[in-house]
Amino acid sequence: MKPILLFDIDGTLLHVRKKFLHEVIHQILKEFKLTSVSLKNRSFAGRTDRDIFSELILEHSQTDDLYDSISSRYISLMTENLSATDVEAIDGIFGMIEFAQKHDLHIGLCTGNYREVAQAKVEAIGLEGTFLFGGYGCNHHDRIHLPKLAKLEYQDVFKRTARAEDFIIIGDTPNDIRCARHFGARVIAVTTGSFSFDQLTDHKPDLILDSLEEPDKWMPKFTTTNQK
Ligand SMILES: [Mg+2]
Repeated sequence: MKPILLFDIDGTLLHVRKKFLHEVIHQILKEFKLTSVSLKNRSFAGRTDRDIFSELILEHSQTDDLYDSISSRYISLMTENLSATDVEAIDGIFGMIEFAQKHDLHIGLCTGNYREVAQAKVEAIGLEGTFLFGGYGCNHHDRIHLPKLAKLEYQDVFKRTARAEDFIIIGDTPNDIRCARHFGARVIAVTTGSFSFDQLTDHKPDLILDSLEEPDKWMPKFTTTNQK
């Protein structure tokens, strides 16, 4: 079986401009009177939206209702306001998608983003309709459970069975590598996010790349093995 690719979004396919994201988060904190929450010294890379928002309200009377209200407000603000100017596609990703399509590789998402936010982000770089299945950060706190959800959705969409080892996760953080290993997939790490080559090496991905450019040079390693 040809490998099935699962892409992370932030730091792998694109970057959302920090200014836009900070404005959205600050607006939410203000609206929900969580002004004592500081965003300083918090790392969001590789984490799920569910985990991030649960943490932000942790010091306040945390309730499911508050979490639900905040997350739906965040989804509205992101989907209504995110435009192409707020997002920067990472070099090489269009060529990578083209390569996958040319070689009939199925491509989905494995992202900490809420499903609606994930779609808004990929739409903002013109890739709407490209990723037909995925595992999303609305479904679980911990990213390690997302590949399995992506697999279930893949099987549902394509009406075929897939094994964990058929999947290749492509992401920019140690958490992407961790979730791939937990699931049993192979993993390609890219240094286009906030982690360096050395930092990613420590987590032993199958391959580390500086960018997804020139996939014809490194993808054959994955497409010519594990065939069944
Ligand atoms: Mg990422």
